[in-house]
Amino acid sequence: MLSKAFGGDVVIGVFAYQGERAAASDWSPVIRYLNQALPTHHFRLDHYDAAGLRQAIAGNRVDLVITNPGYYVTMEAEFGISRIATLDTEDSDPARALGSVVLARADQPALRELADLAGKRVAAVAPEAFGGYLVAAREMLSQGVDPESDLKEILFVGLPMTRIVEAVDAREVDAGIVRTCLLEQMASQGKIRLDDFRVLSAHQVPDLPCAVSTRLYPNWPIAVTRQTDPALAKAVARALLAMPESAGMSWAVPADYQPVHELFRELRTGPYTYLREITPEGLVRRFWPWLLGLLAILSGWIVHTVRVEHQVHRRTAELRESLAARDLAEAKMRESQEQMEHLSRLSVLGELSGNLAHEINQPLTTIGTYARTVLRRQESGNLTPAAITEASTEIAREAERAGGIVQRIRHFARKREATREAIRLADIAEDARRLIVGMLARAPEVVIENRLKDGCQVLADGAQIQQVLLNLIKNAIDANRDLPADRQNLRILIEPMDSRVAVHVIDQGVGLSAEQLPHLFEPFFTTKPDGLGLGLPICKTIIEAHGGRLWAEPNQDSPGMRFSFSLPCHELSA
Ligand code: ADP
Repeated sequence: MLSKAFGGDVVIGVFAYQGERAAASDWSPVIRYLNQALPTHHFRLDHYDAAGLRQAIAGNRVDLVITNPGYYVTMEAEFGISRIATLDTEDSDPARALGSVVLARADQPALRELADLAGKRVAAVAPEAFGGYLVAAREMLSQGVDPESDLKEILFVGLPMTRIVEAVDAREVDAGIVRTCLLEQMASQGKIRLDDFRVLSAHQVPDLPCAVSTRLYPNWPIAVTRQTDPALAKAVARALLAMPESAGMSWAVPADYQPVHELFRELRTGPYTYLREITPEGLVRRFWPWLLGLLAILSGWIVHTVRVEHQVHRRTAELRESLAARDLAEAKMRESQEQMEHLSRLSVLGELSGNLAHEINQPLTTIGTYARTVLRRQESGNLTPAAITEASTEIAREAERAGGIVQRIRHFARKREATREAIRLADIAEDARRLIVGMLARAPEVVIENRLKDGCQVLADGAQIQQVLLNLIKNAIDANRDLPADRQNLRILIEPMDSRVAVHVIDQGVGLSAEQLPHLFEPFFTTKPDGLGLGLPICKTIIEAHGGRLWAEPNQDSPGMRFSFSLPCHELSA
């Protein structure tokens, strides 16, 4: 049962660095004394190696701990054990009692200081042994020799320490690390001769009858654990401070163990091992909560990025699909527009077909007349070569005329794809004029006035622009129909307008009322009994598809209308 103030077993855990037997004989005076001084308790010693003592403290199996300064500082940091007294030996100050000796054979002239150890083979007790390694390691480091990397080899031979002295003597190693006073002790026992050895960086310390190579550190402490009852701790402390030397050993007030902390910090070991953990694993072990947070943020960010990427992909695909759908719709629209243009062209042709028959009839009649004249003359025997020439010439000319009419109409009616080429509007207007004049029996006079500079052309589909012009001309003729002959003339004016080209089709016809005017370009608006009301909307579509504008206005100072369209000018440098 632990944590008791009075009565029962009190377990003192001892770091048995030389094996259980040695420890028991070392510390038995304490047990004897405490059992006498505090008879209500039964004190006993439990011996542990380093790992065992740590487990005993962690498992609350000890009430008091006696251990070396290095181990004490480590357990103080880990489990909060706390010293209540420091061992006091008669020949040294308890605060400066422990040190190390680094020895070599005296016949090794090159080994005098700790700095000479670089590249040498050195024997020590164990990596965690305080006097048997750590104390000397700190001193070597301060003299510029890193025991972990600058030695040829470090051999940890374990206890007892006398093995190290023997190894040096036998030249198995160049030097060895032991606690202070061991050499003197062995010499007094006749095991060695002090003269055979040299203590490296040796110096004398007042009150210490032994040579030493290092600084000195406080002696072994006795400590209580966090669970030890305070009253028991106080009673033990008081008893130990009062322990007379005659009882076998004595204790002083607890020493300052700060130098031990400094040693560990410099060597980056014990409680300060983390200082050397600047390795990736060390950092991970120390900062894992931060790293975990960082990892979480990072993976959040990655997830976010991937999601955004995915969304961008999806939206792009959607956009591509809707663009494709739009392209398809546009293609369909273009197709139906072309269909409509074609129909409209045919409807213009239909309207003109009656006149067309008459028109073609005329050259055919003339051809017939000339042919019959030739036959008649031949029958009457007065067919002269001159008459044959005249008749043939006329027949050929009229046939050509009829052929020309048919060809132009064929060309006009042919269904075709929209194209863009540089065209001269004056040429298109001239073609339209000839087509109209060719098709109509009583075509009015069409005057074309071209005010453009020579180089000005437009990029357009010639056939479509021609269709617009034909529509406007035909409408103008319709509006003129019932007027006296002198008002039937049409004028086509082509002129620059800002950076564009404008074409005006001007009539002197009936015009339109103010109510009718706003509906002019609406589909199916017509004032004609057989009209469709599609001509102007189609013309508007065609002109706007060319980046142009189509509009109509009444003439300013005369009756009739002016239908105009403008197109972007394509200047040719030639
Ligand atoms: P449609 O000729 O089949 O009627 P349009 O769209 O070509 O179809 O013309 C629509 C209407 O615009 C015509 O019915 C007519 O009333 C009017 N219009 C067109 N051009 C003129 C013009 N030059 N003068 C007066 N009215 C016109």
